[in-house]
Amino acid sequence: MQETDVTEPLSKVPSEQRADVIVVGAGPAGSTTAYHLARAGLDVLLLEKTSFPREKVCGDGLTPRATKQLVGMGIDISEEAGWLRNKGLRIIGGGQRLQLDWPELSSYPDYGLVRKRDDFDEQLARQAEKAGARLYERCNVGDPVLDDRTGRIVGVEAKLGEAGTAAKDKTAVTFRAPLVVAADGNSTRLSLKMGLHRREDRPMGVAVRTYFTSPRHDDDYLESWLELWDRRGPQDRLLPGYGWIFGMGDGTSNVGLGVLNTSSAFKDLDWREILKAWCASMPEDWGYTPDNQQGPIRGAALPMAFNRQPHYTRGLLLVGDAGGLVNPFNGEGIAYAMESGQMAAEVIAQAQARQTPAQRELALRSYPKALKDTYGGYYTLGRAFVKLIGNPKVMKLAAERGLSHPMLMRFTLKMLANLTDPVGGDSMDRIINGLSKVAPKA
Ligand SMILES: Cc1cc2nc3c(=O)[nH]c(=O)nc-3n(C[C@H](O)[C@H](O)[C@H](O)COP(=O)(O)OP(=O)(O)OC[C@H]3O[C@@H](n4cnc5c(N)ncnc54)[C@H](O)[C@@H]3O)c2cc1C
Repeated sequence: MQETDVTEPLSKVPSEQRADVIVVGAGPAGSTTAYHLARAGLDVLLLEKTSFPREKVCGDGLTPRATKQLVGMGIDISEEAGWLRNKGLRIIGGGQRLQLDWPELSSYPDYGLVRKRDDFDEQLARQAEKAGARLYERCNVGDPVLDDRTGRIVGVEAKLGEAGTAAKDKTAVTFRAPLVVAADGNSTRLSLKMGLHRREDRPMGVAVRTYFTSPRHDDDYLESWLELWDRRGPQDRLLPGYGWIFGMGDGTSNVGLGVLNTSSAFKDLDWREILKAWCASMPEDWGYTPDNQQGPIRGAALPMAFNRQPHYTRGLLLVGDAGGLVNPFNGEGIAYAMESGQMAAEVIAQAQARQTPAQRELALRSYPKALKDTYGGYYTLGRAFVKLIGNPKVMKLAAERGLSHPMLMRFTLKMLANLTDPVGGDSMDRIINGLSKVAPKA
Protein backbone atom coordinates (compact mmCIF):
# COMPACT_ATOMS: atom_id res chain seq x y z
CA MET A 1 0.00 0.00 0.00
CA GLN A 2 1.20 3.46 -0.71
CA GLU A 3 0.44 7.17 -0.67
CA THR A 4 -1.03 8.15 -4.02
CA ASP A 5 -1.20 11.32 -6.05
CA VAL A 6 -4.62 12.96 -5.52
CA THR A 7 -4.69 14.27 -9.05
CA GLU A 8 -4.38 10.75 -10.40
CA PRO A 9 -7.59 9.37 -11.92
CA LEU A 10 -9.28 6.89 -9.58
CA SER A 11 -8.73 4.06 -12.06
CA LYS A 12 -4.94 4.45 -11.68
CA VAL A 13 -5.06 4.01 -7.88
CA PRO A 14 -4.21 0.43 -6.75
CA SER A 15 -7.49 -1.45 -6.38
CA GLU A 16 -6.95 -2.26 -2.68
CA GLN A 17 -6.85 1.49 -1.98
CA ARG A 18 -9.93 2.61 -3.89
CA ALA A 19 -13.63 1.95 -3.70
CA ASP A 20 -17.03 3.43 -4.58
CA VAL A 21 -17.43 4.49 -0.95
CA ILE A 22 -15.14 4.75 2.09
CA VAL A 23 -16.79 4.32 5.51
CA VAL A 24 -14.68 5.62 8.40
CA GLY A 25 -15.35 3.81 11.70
CA ALA A 26 -16.79 0.33 12.24
CA GLY A 27 -19.16 0.97 15.15
CA PRO A 28 -22.87 0.21 14.63
CA ALA A 29 -23.30 3.17 12.24
CA GLY A 30 -20.32 2.35 10.02
CA SER A 31 -20.83 -1.42 9.85
CA THR A 32 -24.53 -1.02 9.06
CA THR A 33 -23.76 1.51 6.32
CA ALA A 34 -21.08 -0.75 4.85
CA TYR A 35 -23.34 -3.80 5.03
CA HIS A 36 -26.20 -2.15 3.14
CA LEU A 37 -23.86 -0.58 0.59
CA ALA A 38 -22.21 -3.93 -0.11
CA ARG A 39 -25.60 -5.62 -0.39
CA ALA A 40 -26.56 -3.02 -2.97
CA GLY A 41 -23.53 -4.10 -5.00
CA LEU A 42 -21.19 -1.20 -4.21
CA ASP A 43 -17.50 -1.57 -3.58
CA VAL A 44 -16.95 -0.46 0.05
CA LEU A 45 -13.91 0.11 2.25
CA LEU A 46 -14.63 0.04 6.00
CA LEU A 47 -11.74 1.59 7.95
CA GLU A 48 -11.52 1.05 11.72
CA LYS A 49 -8.77 2.36 13.96
CA THR A 50 -9.05 -0.40 16.58
CA SER A 51 -9.12 -4.16 16.13
CA PHE A 52 -11.97 -6.44 17.18
CA PRO A 53 -12.98 -7.44 19.74
CA ARG A 54 -12.56 -4.07 21.49
CA GLU A 55 -14.28 -2.41 24.41
CA LYS A 56 -16.85 0.36 23.82
CA VAL A 57 -18.33 2.31 26.70
CA CYS A 58 -22.08 1.68 26.57
CA GLY A 59 -25.12 0.49 28.51
CA ASP A 60 -25.36 -2.42 26.04
CA GLY A 61 -29.17 -2.11 25.98
CA LEU A 62 -31.05 -2.58 22.70
CA THR A 63 -34.69 -1.58 22.26
CA PRO A 64 -37.04 -3.10 19.67
CA ARG A 65 -35.84 -0.41 17.19
CA ALA A 66 -32.28 -1.75 17.34
CA THR A 67 -33.55 -5.34 17.29
CA LYS A 68 -35.35 -4.60 14.03
CA GLN A 69 -32.12 -3.33 12.48
CA LEU A 70 -30.25 -6.48 13.52
CA VAL A 71 -32.95 -8.63 11.92
CA GLY A 72 -32.60 -6.51 8.77
CA MET A 73 -28.88 -7.31 8.65
CA GLY A 74 -29.45 -11.05 8.98
CA ILE A 75 -27.72 -11.30 12.37
CA ASP A 76 -28.60 -14.44 14.34
CA ILE A 77 -30.23 -12.96 17.45
CA SER A 78 -31.42 -16.26 18.89
CA GLU A 79 -30.95 -17.06 22.56
CA GLU A 80 -28.77 -20.02 21.48
CA ALA A 81 -26.43 -17.48 19.86
CA GLY A 82 -26.03 -15.82 23.27
CA TRP A 83 -28.51 -12.94 23.08
CA LEU A 84 -30.53 -12.09 26.17
CA ARG A 85 -34.01 -10.84 25.32
CA ASN A 86 -35.94 -8.28 27.33
CA LYS A 87 -39.70 -7.82 27.46
CA GLY A 88 -39.79 -4.15 28.33
CA LEU A 89 -38.76 -1.47 30.75
CA ARG A 90 -38.98 -1.33 34.54
CA ILE A 91 -39.11 2.26 35.76
CA ILE A 92 -38.18 3.15 39.33
CA GLY A 93 -38.80 6.57 40.85
CA GLY A 94 -40.98 8.61 43.22
CA GLY A 95 -41.07 5.64 45.59
CA GLN A 96 -42.70 3.50 42.89
CA ARG A 97 -41.77 0.72 40.53
CA LEU A 98 -43.59 0.14 37.26
CA GLN A 99 -42.94 -2.62 34.75
CA LEU A 100 -44.06 -1.93 31.18
CA ASP A 101 -43.88 -4.30 28.25
CA TRP A 102 -42.65 -3.05 24.89
CA PRO A 103 -45.70 -2.17 22.79
CA GLU A 104 -47.16 -4.58 20.25
CA LEU A 105 -46.69 -2.97 16.88
CA SER A 106 -46.64 -3.99 13.25
CA SER A 107 -43.44 -1.97 12.67
CA TYR A 108 -41.20 -3.36 15.45
CA PRO A 109 -40.73 -6.62 17.38
CA ASP A 110 -42.03 -6.64 20.95
CA TYR A 111 -38.68 -7.47 22.53
CA GLY A 112 -35.30 -5.86 22.99
CA LEU A 113 -31.86 -7.39 23.57
CA VAL A 114 -28.63 -6.89 25.47
CA ARG A 115 -25.16 -7.68 24.20
CA LYS A 116 -21.75 -6.44 25.29
CA ARG A 117 -20.36 -4.02 22.74
CA ASP A 118 -17.02 -5.77 22.18
CA ASP A 119 -18.87 -8.74 20.76
CA PHE A 120 -21.84 -6.80 19.34
CA ASP A 121 -19.72 -4.43 17.27
CA GLU A 122 -17.55 -7.27 16.00
CA GLN A 123 -20.60 -9.23 14.83
CA LEU A 124 -21.84 -6.23 12.85
CA ALA A 125 -18.43 -5.59 11.29
CA ARG A 126 -18.07 -9.27 10.30
CA GLN A 127 -21.57 -9.20 8.80
CA ALA A 128 -20.54 -6.20 6.68
CA GLU A 129 -17.45 -8.15 5.60
CA LYS A 130 -19.55 -11.20 4.73
CA ALA A 131 -21.71 -8.97 2.55
CA GLY A 132 -18.58 -7.92 0.66
CA ALA A 133 -17.25 -4.81 2.42
CA ARG A 134 -13.45 -4.73 2.75
CA LEU A 135 -12.66 -4.12 6.42
CA TYR A 136 -9.30 -2.73 7.46
CA GLU A 137 -8.74 -2.87 11.23
CA ARG A 138 -5.90 -0.94 12.96
CA CYS A 139 -6.46 1.73 10.33
CA ASN A 140 -6.48 5.19 11.86
CA VAL A 141 -7.95 7.79 9.51
CA GLY A 142 -6.43 11.26 9.70
CA ASP A 143 -6.90 14.00 7.14
CA PRO A 144 -9.49 14.05 4.40
CA VAL A 145 -8.12 14.21 0.85
CA LEU A 146 -9.72 17.16 -0.89
CA ASP A 147 -10.09 18.02 -4.54
CA ASP A 148 -8.39 21.44 -4.85
CA ARG A 149 -10.81 22.64 -7.47
CA THR A 150 -14.15 21.66 -5.89
CA GLY A 151 -13.25 21.29 -2.20
CA ARG A 152 -14.97 17.89 -2.23
CA ILE A 153 -13.64 14.98 -0.22
CA VAL A 154 -12.17 12.38 -2.57
CA GLY A 155 -10.42 10.11 -0.09
CA VAL A 156 -8.71 9.90 3.28
CA GLU A 157 -5.18 9.63 4.64
CA ALA A 158 -4.70 6.78 7.10
CA LYS A 159 -2.03 5.10 9.19
CA LEU A 160 -2.06 1.31 9.29
CA GLY A 161 -0.50 -0.54 12.20
CA GLU A 162 -0.95 -2.03 15.66
CA ALA A 163 -2.12 0.33 18.44
CA GLY A 164 0.86 1.36 20.52
CA THR A 165 3.24 1.17 17.55
CA ALA A 166 5.31 4.32 17.12
CA ALA A 167 3.80 6.61 14.46
CA LYS A 168 6.96 6.33 12.34
CA ASP A 169 6.58 2.55 12.17
CA LYS A 170 3.02 2.70 10.88
CA THR A 171 2.27 2.58 7.18
CA ALA A 172 0.82 5.74 5.66
CA VAL A 173 -1.86 4.91 3.10
CA THR A 174 -4.13 7.09 0.97
CA PHE A 175 -7.55 5.62 0.25
CA ARG A 176 -9.61 7.10 -2.56
CA ALA A 177 -13.35 7.16 -3.27
CA PRO A 178 -15.82 9.72 -4.64
CA LEU A 179 -17.90 9.44 -1.45
CA VAL A 180 -16.90 9.15 2.21
CA VAL A 181 -19.13 8.35 5.20
CA ALA A 182 -18.09 9.69 8.62
CA ALA A 183 -19.09 6.97 11.12
CA ASP A 184 -16.27 7.79 13.54
CA GLY A 185 -18.42 8.46 16.58
CA ASN A 186 -18.92 11.45 18.84
CA SER A 187 -15.41 12.89 18.40
CA THR A 188 -15.63 12.58 14.57
CA ARG A 189 -12.26 14.01 13.66
CA LEU A 190 -13.13 13.62 10.00
CA SER A 191 -16.19 15.90 10.22
CA LEU A 192 -14.19 18.45 12.22
CA LYS A 193 -11.51 18.47 9.54
CA MET A 194 -14.25 19.11 6.98
CA GLY A 195 -15.30 22.15 9.07
CA LEU A 196 -18.40 20.58 10.62
CA HIS A 197 -18.47 21.63 14.27
CA ARG A 198 -20.78 20.69 17.10
CA ARG A 199 -23.93 22.77 17.51
CA GLU A 200 -23.93 24.26 21.00
CA ASP A 201 -27.71 24.73 20.93
CA ARG A 202 -28.32 20.97 21.02
CA PRO A 203 -28.49 18.84 24.17
CA MET A 204 -25.48 16.79 25.12
CA GLY A 205 -25.25 14.06 27.74
CA VAL A 206 -22.45 12.33 29.56
CA ALA A 207 -22.75 8.79 30.86
CA VAL A 208 -20.60 6.43 32.92
CA ARG A 209 -20.91 2.70 33.49
CA THR A 210 -19.25 -0.38 34.90
CA TYR A 211 -20.00 -4.12 35.32
CA PHE A 212 -20.62 -6.19 38.45
CA THR A 213 -21.08 -9.91 38.88
CA SER A 214 -24.60 -10.10 40.21
CA PRO A 215 -27.49 -12.50 40.86
CA ARG A 216 -29.58 -10.00 38.87
CA HIS A 217 -27.67 -10.76 35.66
CA ASP A 218 -30.54 -12.49 33.86
CA ASP A 219 -33.20 -9.81 34.36
CA ASP A 220 -35.65 -9.87 31.45
CA TYR A 221 -36.54 -6.18 31.79
CA LEU A 222 -34.26 -3.20 31.22
CA GLU A 223 -34.31 -1.15 34.42
CA SER A 224 -34.35 2.63 34.44
CA TRP A 225 -34.02 4.79 37.57
CA LEU A 226 -35.50 8.28 37.48
CA GLU A 227 -34.00 9.20 40.85
CA LEU A 228 -30.67 8.26 42.35
CA TRP A 229 -30.31 8.33 46.13
CA ASP A 230 -27.22 8.31 48.29
CA ARG A 231 -28.42 6.58 51.45
CA ARG A 232 -25.06 6.27 53.19
CA GLY A 233 -25.23 9.32 55.46
CA PRO A 234 -27.60 10.17 58.32
CA GLN A 235 -29.90 11.77 55.75
CA ASP A 236 -30.76 10.49 52.28
CA ARG A 237 -29.32 12.72 49.57
CA LEU A 238 -30.74 13.03 46.03
CA LEU A 239 -27.98 12.64 43.43
CA PRO A 240 -28.09 14.24 39.99
CA GLY A 241 -28.69 12.09 36.90
CA TYR A 242 -30.68 9.04 35.80
CA GLY A 243 -29.51 5.48 36.19
CA TRP A 244 -29.83 2.08 34.56
CA ILE A 245 -29.28 -1.54 35.55
CA PHE A 246 -29.18 -3.95 32.62
CA GLY A 247 -28.67 -7.66 33.30
CA MET A 248 -26.20 -9.01 30.75
CA GLY A 249 -27.18 -12.69 31.04
CA ASP A 250 -23.50 -13.64 31.47
CA GLY A 251 -23.26 -13.40 35.24
CA THR A 252 -22.87 -9.61 35.22
CA SER A 253 -25.00 -6.43 35.23
CA ASN A 254 -24.18 -3.22 33.41
CA VAL A 255 -24.81 -0.40 35.91
CA GLY A 256 -24.50 3.20 34.85
CA LEU A 257 -25.87 6.70 34.93
CA GLY A 258 -26.20 9.64 32.64
CA VAL A 259 -26.83 13.34 32.97
CA LEU A 260 -27.85 16.03 30.51
CA ASN A 261 -26.18 19.38 30.00
CA THR A 262 -29.57 21.02 30.66
CA SER A 263 -29.10 20.02 34.30
CA SER A 264 -27.39 22.59 36.55
CA ALA A 265 -25.31 19.74 38.02
CA PHE A 266 -23.75 18.94 34.63
CA LYS A 267 -20.42 20.67 35.15
CA ASP A 268 -17.68 20.02 37.69
CA LEU A 269 -19.04 16.78 39.09
CA ASP A 270 -17.15 13.54 39.47
CA TRP A 271 -19.58 11.10 37.83
CA ARG A 272 -17.56 8.08 38.87
CA GLU A 273 -18.00 9.07 42.53
CA ILE A 274 -21.73 9.55 42.00
CA LEU A 275 -22.04 6.09 40.47
CA LYS A 276 -20.14 4.67 43.44
CA ALA A 277 -22.43 6.48 45.91
CA TRP A 278 -25.54 5.21 44.14
CA CYS A 279 -24.26 1.61 43.99
CA ALA A 280 -23.27 1.72 47.68
CA SER A 281 -26.88 2.61 48.52
CA MET A 282 -28.38 -0.41 46.76
CA PRO A 283 -29.37 -3.64 48.55
CA GLU A 284 -26.20 -5.62 49.25
CA ASP A 285 -27.58 -8.89 47.90
CA TRP A 286 -27.74 -7.36 44.41
CA GLY A 287 -23.96 -7.54 44.47
CA TYR A 288 -23.08 -4.06 43.21
CA THR A 289 -20.11 -3.84 45.57
CA PRO A 290 -16.44 -2.99 44.92
CA ASP A 291 -15.53 -6.69 45.38
CA ASN A 292 -17.79 -7.70 42.50
CA GLN A 293 -16.86 -4.86 40.16
CA GLN A 294 -15.52 -6.07 36.81
CA GLY A 295 -13.24 -3.45 35.29
CA PRO A 296 -13.07 0.30 35.82
CA ILE A 297 -15.86 2.87 35.57
CA ARG A 298 -15.67 4.42 32.13
CA GLY A 299 -17.61 7.28 30.57
CA ALA A 300 -18.29 9.05 27.29
CA ALA A 301 -20.49 11.72 25.72
CA LEU A 302 -23.95 11.34 24.16
CA PRO A 303 -24.39 13.73 21.20
CA MET A 304 -28.11 14.36 20.72
CA ALA A 305 -30.77 15.79 18.43
CA PHE A 306 -28.67 16.44 15.30
CA ASN A 307 -25.87 18.27 17.10
CA ARG A 308 -23.71 18.22 13.96
CA GLN A 309 -25.00 19.43 10.62
CA PRO A 310 -25.30 19.38 7.68
CA HIS A 311 -25.46 15.62 7.37
CA TYR A 312 -24.28 15.82 3.78
CA THR A 313 -21.79 18.20 2.28
CA ARG A 314 -19.11 18.01 -0.43
CA GLY A 315 -19.02 14.22 -0.76
CA LEU A 316 -19.22 13.51 3.01
CA LEU A 317 -22.22 11.93 4.76
CA LEU A 318 -22.52 11.80 8.56
CA VAL A 319 -24.09 8.78 10.28
CA GLY A 320 -24.68 7.83 13.94
CA ASP A 321 -22.95 9.74 16.73
CA ALA A 322 -20.87 11.66 14.17
CA GLY A 323 -24.13 13.30 13.12
CA GLY A 324 -25.38 13.69 16.72
CA LEU A 325 -28.20 11.19 16.30
CA VAL A 326 -28.70 10.05 19.91
CA ASN A 327 -32.37 10.21 20.96
CA PRO A 328 -32.68 13.09 23.49
CA PHE A 329 -35.67 11.39 25.17
CA ASN A 330 -33.82 8.28 26.34
CA GLY A 331 -30.12 8.46 25.41
CA GLU A 332 -30.44 5.56 22.95
CA GLY A 333 -27.93 5.77 20.14
CA ILE A 334 -27.40 2.34 18.59
CA ALA A 335 -30.74 2.09 16.79
CA TYR A 336 -30.31 5.59 15.33
CA ALA A 337 -26.72 4.85 14.31
CA MET A 338 -27.91 1.77 12.43
CA GLU A 339 -31.01 3.39 10.92
CA SER A 340 -29.04 6.39 9.67
CA GLY A 341 -26.47 3.97 8.21
CA GLN A 342 -29.20 2.19 6.32
CA MET A 343 -30.68 5.48 5.08
CA ALA A 344 -27.29 6.79 3.96
CA ALA A 345 -26.60 3.53 2.11
CA GLU A 346 -29.94 3.70 0.30
CA VAL A 347 -29.33 7.28 -0.80
CA ILE A 348 -25.78 6.52 -1.95
CA ALA A 349 -26.92 3.46 -3.94
CA GLN A 350 -29.58 5.58 -5.67
CA ALA A 351 -27.11 8.40 -6.34
CA GLN A 352 -24.62 5.95 -7.81
CA ALA A 353 -27.14 4.92 -10.46
CA ARG A 354 -27.70 8.50 -11.68
CA GLN A 355 -26.19 9.49 -15.01
CA THR A 356 -24.64 12.90 -14.38
CA PRO A 357 -22.71 14.46 -11.45
CA ALA A 358 -25.52 17.01 -11.03
CA GLN A 359 -28.09 14.23 -10.78
CA ARG A 360 -25.93 12.34 -8.29
CA GLU A 361 -25.58 15.46 -6.17
CA LEU A 362 -29.33 16.00 -6.22
CA ALA A 363 -29.86 12.46 -4.96
CA LEU A 364 -27.22 12.83 -2.21
CA ARG A 365 -28.85 15.99 -0.90
CA SER A 366 -31.94 13.94 -0.09
CA TYR A 367 -30.06 12.30 2.82
CA PRO A 368 -30.28 15.24 5.29
CA LYS A 369 -33.87 15.68 4.23
CA ALA A 370 -34.66 12.01 4.90
CA LEU A 371 -33.11 12.34 8.37
CA LYS A 372 -35.11 15.47 9.12
CA ASP A 373 -38.34 13.94 7.85
CA THR A 374 -37.78 10.85 9.99
CA TYR A 375 -36.49 12.36 13.25
CA GLY A 376 -36.60 16.17 12.97
CA GLY A 377 -39.97 16.83 14.63
CA TYR A 378 -39.47 14.11 17.25
CA TYR A 379 -36.04 15.47 18.19
CA THR A 380 -37.48 18.98 18.51
CA LEU A 381 -39.96 17.59 21.05
CA GLY A 382 -37.04 15.81 22.72
CA ARG A 383 -35.15 19.07 23.07
CA ALA A 384 -38.13 20.61 24.88
CA PHE A 385 -38.34 17.50 27.06
CA VAL A 386 -34.69 17.66 28.16
CA LYS A 387 -35.10 21.33 29.05
CA LEU A 388 -38.06 20.44 31.25
CA ILE A 389 -36.43 17.52 33.05
CA GLY A 390 -33.27 19.57 33.56
CA ASN A 391 -35.32 21.03 36.42
CA PRO A 392 -35.18 18.41 39.22
CA LYS A 393 -38.52 19.61 40.65
CA VAL A 394 -40.31 18.84 37.38
CA MET A 395 -38.69 15.41 37.22
CA LYS A 396 -39.59 14.63 40.84
CA LEU A 397 -43.22 15.66 40.32
CA ALA A 398 -43.44 13.69 37.07
CA ALA A 399 -42.05 10.56 38.77
CA GLU A 400 -44.33 10.86 41.81
CA ARG A 401 -47.50 11.56 39.87
CA GLY A 402 -46.86 9.83 36.55
CA LEU A 403 -45.77 6.39 37.74
CA SER A 404 -49.10 5.76 39.45
CA HIS A 405 -50.89 6.08 36.08
CA PRO A 406 -50.06 2.98 34.02
CA MET A 407 -51.92 4.32 30.95
CA LEU A 408 -49.95 7.57 31.03
CA MET A 409 -46.75 5.60 31.47
CA ARG A 410 -47.54 3.36 28.49
CA PHE A 411 -47.85 6.53 26.44
CA THR A 412 -44.59 7.80 27.94
CA LEU A 413 -42.80 4.56 27.07
CA LYS A 414 -43.91 4.82 23.44
CA MET A 415 -42.86 8.46 23.36
CA LEU A 416 -39.47 7.99 25.04
CA ALA A 417 -38.52 4.88 23.06
CA ASN A 418 -39.96 6.25 19.78
CA LEU A 419 -42.04 3.12 19.27
CA THR A 420 -45.20 3.78 17.28
CA ASP A 421 -46.79 2.54 14.07
CA PRO A 422 -46.83 5.25 11.39
CA VAL A 423 -50.10 3.93 9.95
CA GLY A 424 -52.85 1.95 11.60
CA GLY A 425 -51.52 2.56 15.12
CA ASP A 426 -53.60 3.20 18.22
CA SER A 427 -54.64 6.60 19.59
CA MET A 428 -51.35 7.01 21.48
CA ASP A 429 -49.42 6.42 18.24
CA ARG A 430 -51.57 8.98 16.47
CA ILE A 431 -50.91 11.61 19.15
CA ILE A 432 -47.14 11.02 19.15
CA ASN A 433 -46.90 10.93 15.36
CA GLY A 434 -49.12 14.02 15.09
CA LEU A 435 -46.98 15.98 17.55
CA SER A 436 -43.78 14.94 15.76
CA LYS A 437 -45.30 15.96 12.45
CA VAL A 438 -46.24 19.47 13.52
CA ALA A 439 -43.03 20.19 15.49
CA PRO A 440 -40.39 22.10 13.47
CA LYS A 441 -37.84 19.80 11.83
CA ALA A 442 -34.67 21.67 12.79
C1 LIG B 1 -22.06 5.23 28.97
C2 LIG B 1 -22.89 5.13 27.71
C3 LIG B 1 -23.98 4.26 27.70
C4 LIG B 1 -24.75 4.12 26.54
N1 LIG B 1 -25.77 3.20 26.54
C5 LIG B 1 -26.47 2.98 25.42
C6 LIG B 1 -27.45 1.93 25.39
O1 LIG B 1 -27.66 1.20 26.36
N2 LIG B 1 -28.15 1.75 24.24
C7 LIG B 1 -27.93 2.52 23.13
O2 LIG B 1 -28.61 2.33 22.11
N3 LIG B 1 -26.99 3.51 23.13
C8 LIG B 1 -26.24 3.73 24.23
N4 LIG B 1 -25.24 4.69 24.22
C9 LIG B 1 -24.98 5.41 22.97
C10 LIG B 1 -24.22 4.53 21.97
O3 LIG B 1 -23.09 3.98 22.59
C11 LIG B 1 -23.78 5.33 20.73
O4 LIG B 1 -24.85 6.14 20.29
C12 LIG B 1 -23.34 4.40 19.60
O5 LIG B 1 -22.17 3.70 19.94
C13 LIG B 1 -23.08 5.19 18.30
O6 LIG B 1 -22.57 4.36 17.30
P1 LIG B 1 -21.58 4.94 16.17
O7 LIG B 1 -21.28 3.80 15.29
O8 LIG B 1 -22.14 6.18 15.61
O9 LIG B 1 -20.27 5.39 16.96
P2 LIG B 1 -19.24 4.52 17.81
O10 LIG B 1 -19.92 3.37 18.43
O11 LIG B 1 -18.54 5.49 18.68
O12 LIG B 1 -18.24 3.95 16.73
C14 LIG B 1 -17.28 4.77 16.10
C15 LIG B 1 -16.19 3.87 15.55
O13 LIG B 1 -15.29 4.68 14.80
C16 LIG B 1 -13.96 4.31 15.12
N5 LIG B 1 -13.11 5.48 14.84
C17 LIG B 1 -13.08 6.67 15.51
N6 LIG B 1 -12.17 7.49 14.98
C18 LIG B 1 -11.61 6.82 13.94
C19 LIG B 1 -10.59 7.13 13.02
N7 LIG B 1 -9.97 8.31 13.06
N8 LIG B 1 -10.24 6.22 12.08
C20 LIG B 1 -10.87 5.01 12.03
N9 LIG B 1 -11.83 4.65 12.90
C21 LIG B 1 -12.21 5.55 13.84
C22 LIG B 1 -14.02 3.94 16.59
O14 LIG B 1 -12.93 3.13 16.98
C23 LIG B 1 -15.37 3.20 16.64
O15 LIG B 1 -15.22 1.84 16.35
C24 LIG B 1 -24.45 4.87 25.37
C25 LIG B 1 -23.37 5.75 25.39
C26 LIG B 1 -22.59 5.88 26.54
C27 LIG B 1 -21.43 6.82 26.53
